[in-house]
Amino acid sequence: MNRFVRESLLRLAIVLTFLASFSAISSAQQDQPLRSVTYRLSMPRPVSHLFEVVIEVELAKDSPASSLDFQMPKWSPGRYSVFDFARNVQEFKAFTLNCSPRSDAPSSINCQVPPLSVARIDDQTWRVDTQGIRRLTVNYKVFGNDLSGTFSQLDSRHANYNGGSIFMYVVNHKPDPVKLLIEPPTGWRIINGRMDRADQREWQFPNYDLMIDTPTEIAPDWTDEQFEVDGKHYRVIVHSFGDEGGKRPALVRDIEKIVRAETAMWGPPEFDSYTFLIHFAADDISGDGMEHLTSTQIIEPGALGEEGVYGDTLDTVAHEFFHVWNVKRLRPVEFGPWDFTRSVSTRGLWIAEGITNYYGHIMRRRAGLWDDTALLRRESQTITEIENAPGSHLMSAEDSSLSASFLDGAPHAQRTNLANTSISYYPKGELIGLVLDLMIRGKTSGKASLDEVMRHMYDEFYLQSPNASYYLRGRGYTTEDFERVASEVGGFDLSGFFRRYIRGVEMLPYDEAFAYLGLHLAREQARQPYNAGIGIDWDKTNSLTVAVVRNGSPAEDAGLQEGDEIISLGRKNVTRENFLVSLSRYKQGDRVAISVKRNRRTIQTTLVLGPPERFEYRIEERKDATPEQKALRAAWLKGA
Ligand SMILES: [Zn+2]
Ligand SMILES: [Zn+2]
Repeated sequence: MNRFVRESLLRLAIVLTFLASFSAISSAQQDQPLRSVTYRLSMPRPVSHLFEVVIEVELAKDSPASSLDFQMPKWSPGRYSVFDFARNVQEFKAFTLNCSPRSDAPSSINCQVPPLSVARIDDQTWRVDTQGIRRLTVNYKVFGNDLSGTFSQLDSRHANYNGGSIFMYVVNHKPDPVKLLIEPPTGWRIINGRMDRADQREWQFPNYDLMIDTPTEIAPDWTDEQFEVDGKHYRVIVHSFGDEGGKRPALVRDIEKIVRAETAMWGPPEFDSYTFLIHFAADDISGDGMEHLTSTQIIEPGALGEEGVYGDTLDTVAHEFFHVWNVKRLRPVEFGPWDFTRSVSTRGLWIAEGITNYYGHIMRRRAGLWDDTALLRRESQTITEIENAPGSHLMSAEDSSLSASFLDGAPHAQRTNLANTSISYYPKGELIGLVLDLMIRGKTSGKASLDEVMRHMYDEFYLQSPNASYYLRGRGYTTEDFERVASEVGGFDLSGFFRRYIRGVEMLPYDEAFAYLGLHLAREQARQPYNAGIGIDWDKTNSLTVAVVRNGSPAEDAGLQEGDEIISLGRKNVTRENFLVSLSRYKQGDRVAISVKRNRRTIQTTLVLGPPERFEYRIEERKDATPEQKALRAAWLKGA
């Protein structure tokens, strides 16, 4: 850089500084808090799936604002891809309220509601002209027919909403206090994680962010069970659309065991009461778990009475309840207050979600819902998943976190190669948590653990930190903060570990970690049939269609593509049911004719079969485990 450029940049910097301070003053004038913001939610025609929202705003007395912008979030916290909730907004209108004493009867008030001019200024924002007025009302309808922790559903059975998908905020006024009034259909009852009394219809929230952190269920027939742990009140709300098989009482008892195990690790939670909102959708499609400050939404696609659904529910409960501390309060620095105009990027989702996944599984063991074998089998499956994924060698845990908006349920209009290039921060972070925990336990002879790292983090960044914003107590952490705290608690330098396994893509040091506990990791060729790099689209039930072609595989060498419909193998017709069995009749080096249908043409090509590419991993007990190693293992499993 030469001197002239440097000097002109310096001058530019001075001008920009001046402009920045000027605009800060003018926006501070514009953005003095609104006198009041009131949301009214109604649902007069459930079959239409249209929620009706009214927002009443009273401006400050001397507000110079000539317009107010009402904005629909592009995404909502806990799910990191952009969904553009504005796509379901319709019939946005604005009115003012002019009231004056009646000339014929001065003790009465005469009010008019003339419409205000509205201009839509981008894909998520409606601008209302407020020149010279003090009070205005906007209303709009928003369509919702997805039962999910991210979206909302209104139908003849219930209303279930995630606030971010139905409520607009007033731009620059997210920090202002808001009031919410809900008018349910006759006979429907409201429940959420902020109930002060049974028939409550009105809530006051310190700000918009907390209002949309309160998912709400409104229906005539949800059930309510309650328990207490350490003086805190817990409610299990269940809305079942299928047969429960008499399992609900046992489910509530097991949820209580999970609450006891997790509060035993963390200490008492900050709230007085917490609500599990659980749906059994019985539609084989809807499934989700979403964390909130004093509640969680859990949606299972099956019916509670069906095989496997009970265990899946407890898995989600153990994960979501752990978020009470990790994510909702102890959080990455980027997590709130939120910018809803673009996706949020953090390198820390492997901590926020991955380590939560790890503890979700450990806590099932500590709660007595799993035995040691079940836990080790689950962790072995996660290792098998990650170590066989081609993306493991290309994408680090931090890169995966930064890619969340592409990975976390993101809709893709164009084809991507993410199946070959990405890994999820959930299982990868789970394994980092596992290895880190065992290494800290091993190196400190059981004096410290990842439990302690998490408690230290919670203390430093939540309980003891001054508020960094209006949003929530404490401040967020960076991954460097986590590295420092883990190194301090563990008493050894973790910079190499972070460089190689968290910011890099090297295989985690499983052998070292398991050895501390008298365990070892066995690796053998997978029993599952060889697939030559072809991933089948199992959702397409009436054809044998290629969903994924693994990079560098025999399938890619043969020129196969995503979307190809496989017709025959070795000149014999094949189906979804017999394809993998047919392929397994051949051996490495065989040349097998394959024909596929692509764009109305039939293409013949040859698969040259390669070596087996999948391995299965199994955590096993070492026969020569010492009493010390066994003691460390017992402490890990029981949470000592
Ligand atoms: Zn419901
Ligand atoms: Zn989670």
